[in-house]
Amino acid sequence: MAHEKVWANNENLNKFELKKLEKDGLDILEEIDTFAKNGFASIPEEDWDLLKWAGLYLQRPKKDGYFMMRIKVPTGILNYEQVVALAGICRDFGRDLFDITTRQAIQFHWLEIENIPEIFRRLDEVGLTTVGACGDIARNVIGNPLAGIDPEELLDTEPIVREIHQFFHKNRDFSNLPRKYKISISASYYNSGHAEINDLAFIPATKEIDGKLVKGFHVKVGGGLSSKPHLAQPLNIFVTPDKVKDVAIAVTTIFRDYGYREKRHRARLKFLVADWGVEKFQEKLLELTGPLPERGNDETKGWNAGYFYGVHPQKQKGLNYIGFNVPLGRLYSEEVLEIARISKKYGNGQIRTCNTQNIVIPNVPDDQVEALLAEEIFQKGRITIKPKSFIGYAVSCTGTEFCNLALVETKQRMKTIVEYLDQELELDVPVRMHITGCPNSCGQRQIADIGLQGVLMRTKDKKMVDAYEIHVGGTLLDGGRFNEKLKGKIEAEKLHLVLKDFLQYFKETKLAGETFLEY
Ligand code: SF4
Repeated sequence: MAHEKVWANNENLNKFELKKLEKDGLDILEEIDTFAKNGFASIPEEDWDLLKWAGLYLQRPKKDGYFMMRIKVPTGILNYEQVVALAGICRDFGRDLFDITTRQAIQFHWLEIENIPEIFRRLDEVGLTTVGACGDIARNVIGNPLAGIDPEELLDTEPIVREIHQFFHKNRDFSNLPRKYKISISASYYNSGHAEINDLAFIPATKEIDGKLVKGFHVKVGGGLSSKPHLAQPLNIFVTPDKVKDVAIAVTTIFRDYGYREKRHRARLKFLVADWGVEKFQEKLLELTGPLPERGNDETKGWNAGYFYGVHPQKQKGLNYIGFNVPLGRLYSEEVLEIARISKKYGNGQIRTCNTQNIVIPNVPDDQVEALLAEEIFQKGRITIKPKSFIGYAVSCTGTEFCNLALVETKQRMKTIVEYLDQELELDVPVRMHITGCPNSCGQRQIADIGLQGVLMRTKDKKMVDAYEIHVGGTLLDGGRFNEKLKGKIEAEKLHLVLKDFLQYFKETKLAGETFLEY
């Protein structure tokens, strides 16, 4: 009940809000051991949704009692011990599936409640957590996967991301937000943190203060996808690294106290920002933080869309980071263990996850690069630094394989499509294709060159079948633009053929080197 009185919008609370007042999401953590001892049937159905605070979702179909688990990976950085522990968990309890999400997190499937305490113990041992990876709370803090090693970043954001992650971890002042809440902190000049689709984003900026050029951040608020997507809007403030936490607390406080709690589909921060406007939002923010300097120079130069394929020099002389494609973000435990072994042998044992569901192995000395690339796992063609045009730029959400909200299949569908396109077509530029199984858009289809949105369609003989809408022209360049829907929807079975014709036309009519966005 801690914040019931201070919420400005606490009239007509929706059913789930009333539930959250009865029991805080974090309370569920205390009950996991008992649930594990007594089995799935002992978990009251009314508590199923609160398990999200522990990073646990019931996978489809709910009654079977299998869980999806999401593990936070702040700014995508994992050390060797963490990667090995994660591989062990998916091998021992999760039918071997290791999925990288579009927010740099890791997801497991097929987990049973009996094993959750042991999984938590293993995660805890290596400093990982699932707490707050799902639920109405601050989610995994994303950022530049190259933080600290990137020659194209203004400053190293890893310590700041860790500070914010730690601050919100099990923090009961902020464990009951109106809805999920996503933070991005990146100082990459190329918007690696996908700033505009987050509730709160810090992006690189400089400002002359007292005759000195100071490095820091500009701030954007109110972004998010789903069926009513919004691009985050810039505030007129400049934030030094030591003030990031204050600003994050202030924005989260506004969301907690003024965010909408009446209808869940209107509860994200983006609706409050849109209704208030950024001026009013900023005024409220400054009331909480005290005065902050006005904007300085924006240091964002472009958008790399979160791709890092190939071998690249780090800011540390003589060291390299190597970006690999992981087809649709899915690995298997043996692969994960092998990549961990390699990252330790040639690098410093770290693996970094990207918003594009891919990985980076950092800290590889110049004279080790060749040997690393010659390792058998990278010769097989599946995990590669030079993926084919379509599989290399395909992003997918979970879809009906495991997700209760899904309308259609996604990962397998996308795999079939891109394999077909890679066989049939070769392009001189990548085309980023994202697929998403319902309007929630975990596959971030709005920012893709070609976004495929799953829907159901009635055929002539009155059967319901999987179908997809096609949206084109999304980007986060220059503040961002969501893609636009083409007319109609395409039956799943014909989708690969339609896309082939469409892309063939693009290939034949575009100029050499012209990208989908420029077309
Ligand atoms: Fe599930 Fe929909 Fe998210 Fe896909 S977009 S993972 S179908 S909720």
